[in-house]
Amino acid sequence: MDHIVYLDNAATTPVDPQVVQAMLPVLTGPGGNPSSHYSIGYEAKEQIDTARAQVAAALGCLPGEVYFTGGGSEADNWAIKGTARKLARQGKKHLITSAFEHHAVVHAMQALEKDGFEVTWLPVTADGFVRPEDVAAAIRPDTALVSVMLANNEIGTIQPIQEIAAICREKKVLCHTDAVQAVGAIPVNVKELGVDMLSLSGHKFNGPKGVGALYIRRGVLPDNLIDGGGQESRRRAGTENVAGIVGLGAAIELAVGHLEEKQAHLVALRDYVIGRVLANIPETRLNGDAKNRLPGNANISFAGLEGETILLDLDMRGICASTGSACNSDSLDPSHVLLAIGLPHEAAHGTMRFSFGPQNTMEEAEYLCSVLEEIIPLRRAMSPVWKPLA
Ligand SMILES: *Cc1c(COP(=O)(O)O)cnc(C)c1O
Repeated sequence: MDHIVYLDNAATTPVDPQVVQAMLPVLTGPGGNPSSHYSIGYEAKEQIDTARAQVAAALGCLPGEVYFTGGGSEADNWAIKGTARKLARQGKKHLITSAFEHHAVVHAMQALEKDGFEVTWLPVTADGFVRPEDVAAAIRPDTALVSVMLANNEIGTIQPIQEIAAICREKKVLCHTDAVQAVGAIPVNVKELGVDMLSLSGHKFNGPKGVGALYIRRGVLPDNLIDGGGQESRRRAGTENVAGIVGLGAAIELAVGHLEEKQAHLVALRDYVIGRVLANIPETRLNGDAKNRLPGNANISFAGLEGETILLDLDMRGICASTGSACNSDSLDPSHVLLAIGLPHEAAHGTMRFSFGPQNTMEEAEYLCSVLEEIIPLRRAMSPVWKPLA
């Protein structure tokens, strides 16, 4: 291949050129503060209002229910910590989440545990799902919030959020979902889902990094996470990232348009790679349910190998992907997601995530497969722990 083959769209995505075009006039224009009372301030305010309407249209909610944040992690932290702190004043100090959430949720929950909150970590099935009946069984009179992700960022499985939200509604418990991987990949409508809060992030659907949003259903009032000026209806302080917000608005409009065609394209790439790898390379397994998963996610374990080795081999051949083991260089712990679905440590270590985006081609998928067919047997032959089945 004469170009970088980027197959790590679950980590981040390239900014769509049309999004860049939407952002440029904001970056190069007069750049007034949206809170200022003169024409260029009003202009910036209008640009934000347009983006808010674009997000609301994509999610099926009111513009006034959309709050811009500094990304998906902030949106998750706000929903969780803001709700926990608010409801703690009513004596509700119990939270429910799953064992395989994104670190933005896991670590926000753990921070609350240190502050005396109690967290129930729901188990996940071997094929990668949280069971609604487990949510129902975990809810107590002092439960403040249930937070379960809409689509898992490592194995791509899509969670039964509609059922979970219905249980929460019936038991009068607030329900948040981290939809960062889902928005732009599958249809996401907050009213159909029935959730009270939903997080999204611009850079996961070909928008800019460092900007996201939290949907907060009208009438739901988590405490503020960022205190300061009166921006975002006094609920999220800080001079707005106008260019980023405009980019997010443009990106979400593009992302939800032609969604069916885009999904069909991603499913074709995903299923080609899964089918060919599992057929041609022995002792490989797909993690997460084969059907009820994100259109662009293939998560595959290669027995007897370390993900890092595969990652480097792929990088040398111009392919960007992700391991399923250490999420950052200062940790060698296998992924909590893979452990949650019951993968043994060795299998978790030899796991790769390939995540496709609309810009990827079938030629790139074929290239990935031929590279894997070349490097996996070579590396296994060198591996001290590889013992092929007879
Ligand atoms: C990327 C991601 C986040 C974090 O979003 P940022 O905008 O990078 O802070 C949160 N949750 C999930 C599921 C993600 O994939």
